[in-house]
Amino acid sequence: MAWVTDFAPTTSELDTCIDCGLCLPVCPTFRVTGDESASPRGRIAAMRAVDRGLIGVDDRFAEVMDLCLQCRACEVACPSLVQFGRMMEGARAEVTAQLPDWKAFATRTVFGRAIASRSAVVLLSWMVGVAQRAHVTGVLPGAVGKVTALRRVPLPVPTTAGHEWLPDGEPVGTVAFLAGCVMDQWYSDVHVAVIQVLRTAGYRVVAPPNQTCCGALAAHEGAAYDAAKMAARNVDAFAGYDLVVVDSAGCSAHMKGYGHWAAGGADLAERVVDANEFIAALIDEGSLPKVSEGKVPIAIQDPCHLRHAQRIVDEPRSILRAAGYAPVEIDPAGMCCGAAGAYQLSHPEMSDELGVRKAVQVEAAGLPRVASANPGCEMQLKTFLADGIDVVHPIEVYWDSVARHK
Ligand code: SF4
Ligand code: SF4
Repeated sequence: MAWVTDFAPTTSELDTCIDCGLCLPVCPTFRVTGDESASPRGRIAAMRAVDRGLIGVDDRFAEVMDLCLQCRACEVACPSLVQFGRMMEGARAEVTAQLPDWKAFATRTVFGRAIASRSAVVLLSWMVGVAQRAHVTGVLPGAVGKVTALRRVPLPVPTTAGHEWLPDGEPVGTVAFLAGCVMDQWYSDVHVAVIQVLRTAGYRVVAPPNQTCCGALAAHEGAAYDAAKMAARNVDAFAGYDLVVVDSAGCSAHMKGYGHWAAGGADLAERVVDANEFIAALIDEGSLPKVSEGKVPIAIQDPCHLRHAQRIVDEPRSILRAAGYAPVEIDPAGMCCGAAGAYQLSHPEMSDELGVRKAVQVEAAGLPRVASANPGCEMQLKTFLADGIDVVHPIEVYWDSVARHK
């Protein structure tokens, strides 16, 4: 038995790899371990061995796939345009389907089912908010203790889906807005900043009520059938909108790949824009103001799903410059910070090693602020950075500057 799901890596996808090894130096897990099986080429070799019937999907195969962060840095380095992220999601789907242990069950329950339920996410967020106010999050063990790095969850817990916001004058257009699974509750200030910036540019912003989680976490964790259901629901929810603005890099990257996940998904994928690219374009065309020339230095960290998966690099820097800041590079290679969604929980040692390395890079800049455009990266940075360094979102910084100069 080789593959059993519709999501498995195909032979033609696997054959695009020419084994050149150019991806090895950019792979965080290879950099840490020096082990070929922890490299993109090694992982593809394992997938090929299953595809050719030489090995089965067993515990060792699962281990080799699970250590991957799905950061997609290898795709940028690859001269053969290997779609590594797509293949890895397929391999993870196979592991979940063929090794149905307690971990697969837990994965499906949390990332496939609970995360798609707004009431379940609101309840969890409410519990986190209460725990934060009772000052008990600090006693949580291991990687779960990273919850202390979360922003304070507002109580009552806010929800964006089902609401709309109008600009001050006649709208220049309408954009749909992805509420997300935990962005609403855990990063509501980012949502507020993005919506206010879009209103300032003259847009009516609508968050359709029947939308759900984008499904990225489910896809990454191997709950592929659940991810497909979420994609299908969002295809319906966002029908009729010319643009869908998404302000979490992991979500926008995943939705741009909806063509693999649902009928009509390719059409929705064409209409998805990451908030960074949309707002940077609005600034560039003069629909949003440049507050000043950009003089205050600020370190900048690139989320993998912005930099590697979507190749969005200049845009957050343009937004910071328009807010009056001068971005300072900390890592031209954009190495993963180790957050990687649920990876922080499943592989705490590798996640922490990469978190420490990233913190060293940020601290070397010697600045009091670092900008990062993804909630998972923010949490990871706050966990490992020395006291006195703030982590901020580029669009929050921009909205703060615009609001102060209104
Ligand atoms: S996605 Fe990231 S961790 Fe996984 S093989 Fe590629 S570079 Fe390495
Ligand atoms: S760079 Fe691309 S073609 Fe070369 S080994 Fe890595 S995945 Fe294969």
